[in-house]
Amino acid sequence: MPRKLAAGNWKMNGLRANLAEIETLAARHADAQIDILICPPATLIAACQDSLLDIGGQDCHAATSGAHTGDISAQMLADVGATYVIIGHSERRADHGESNDVVAAKSQAAYAAGITAIICLGETLAERENGTTLAVIDAQLAGSVPATATAQNTVIAYEPVWAIGTGKVPTRDQIAQVHAHIRARLNARFDDGAEMRILYGGSVKGSNAAEIFGVPHVDGALVGGASLKADDFSAIIAAL
Ligand code: PGA
Repeated sequence: MPRKLAAGNWKMNGLRANLAEIETLAARHADAQIDILICPPATLIAACQDSLLDIGGQDCHAATSGAHTGDISAQMLADVGATYVIIGHSERRADHGESNDVVAAKSQAAYAAGITAIICLGETLAERENGTTLAVIDAQLAGSVPATATAQNTVIAYEPVWAIGTGKVPTRDQIAQVHAHIRARLNARFDDGAEMRILYGGSVKGSNAAEIFGVPHVDGALVGGASLKADDFSAIIAAL
């Protein structure tokens, strides 16, 4: 069984005053038997360098350095203590036009920098309603996850776009179907596919976490809104 991972994605939220939430979490879960990760905005990563929790970025550029104004490389994230980076979140795929090819290239940059890529996948509401969810997942898995992925350098996050920040959560059966499908594809493609963690993301809260974590092949969660406050995220951690 893969080791569980509770990952918080702060998105474009968080000032230095909010670092206290991370300290509270670290103190409270010092003996946790799972991995706990916070991905704060890039401006706060260096300030978390001594945190006992894992710290990650929310994106990186595919190149190591160069003329890319406003971008951050995976090597730079590693340099300030990040050990994970979220790649291909649906907000980046939608707002920044990130294709599967771009996501794969960024994931390779993360591998080269020695950090773990959390590669995000998920269907839109229209895709779910027209019955193409599994085909969309297949295309994203095939196009976004590099051939050099391993259970050490890669985590998959299944995040239905329609469930992100909406309070809508798929049924247990819907989550089970997609996670089992992803597991089968990972097993077919990678020697250690059974060990590669598959997170669920989209409106995870303390009140629904236990049910979601009871679904086979759910190895943790990628949490947005409910990761901003230590108390909210702790309730999710406690359910894992
Ligand atoms: P949410 O976001 O938990 O606020 O729905 C999840 C995500 O985007 O990773």
